[in-house]
Amino acid sequence: MRIVLLGAPGAGKGTQAKKLIEKYGIPQISTGDILRKAVADGTPLGKEAKSYMDKGELVPDSVVIGLVKERLQQDDCKKGFILDGFPRNTSQAETLDKVLDEMGMPLDVALSVDVDMDILMKRLTGRRTCKQCGQMYNVYFSPPKQEGVCDKCGGELYQRDDDKEETIRKRLEVYEAQTAPLIDYYEKKGILKRVNGVGDIDEIFSNICSILDGLKK
Ligand code: AMP
Repeated sequence: MRIVLLGAPGAGKGTQAKKLIEKYGIPQISTGDILRKAVADGTPLGKEAKSYMDKGELVPDSVVIGLVKERLQQDDCKKGFILDGFPRNTSQAETLDKVLDEMGMPLDVALSVDVDMDILMKRLTGRRTCKQCGQMYNVYFSPPKQEGVCDKCGGELYQRDDDKEETIRKRLEVYEAQTAPLIDYYEKKGILKRVNGVGDIDEIFSNICSILDGLKK
């Protein structure tokens, strides 16, 4: 199953992708995660990407497309993949189609996880992550027992640089202007499906699974 997950920042794509990995045994390709790792490792690519990410802007297509192409060629993608956070604009979507056509593995579905703007804002500004184990919390919806401390491992919780309010506004603006048009793009291709991204995580996941299981493979 070859899936693109669409949705604004904070829609829960990453959370659902992690559950899909478990159920379908296919890898998640998150360009945000790949870029954040490059930033943390201090690679030249990471240094270039960080300035865009901290401002909430998109990293140039040339950088991101190269990363995704390389990742798609790895063996574990032969049985399928979940693209999370890519494509982010029409040009990336067109390039992706071309690359996948050349590889003989076109997309099966583009799944849009839909969430209202005011909820997105709270989800993003409230998001905290454990420095040690990566566990995520939200100060509004799922706070840790003790402020700033991970329930699981006692690690320190931090806010991603690009989860600061000003950056978030910019990220949502960029989403509306550049990424939301992909909903139309995939609709026209006849592979768009939509799911409500508000509510219980397991319920949303179950709705996603019904959609995926209903597709012809
Ligand atoms: P995410 O975790 O997917 O919200 O990505 C965090 C940041 O990484 C974005 O705000 C962008 O700066 C950058 N990024 C992630 N994916 C892409 C992409 N496909 N194209 C350009 N920039 C991206």
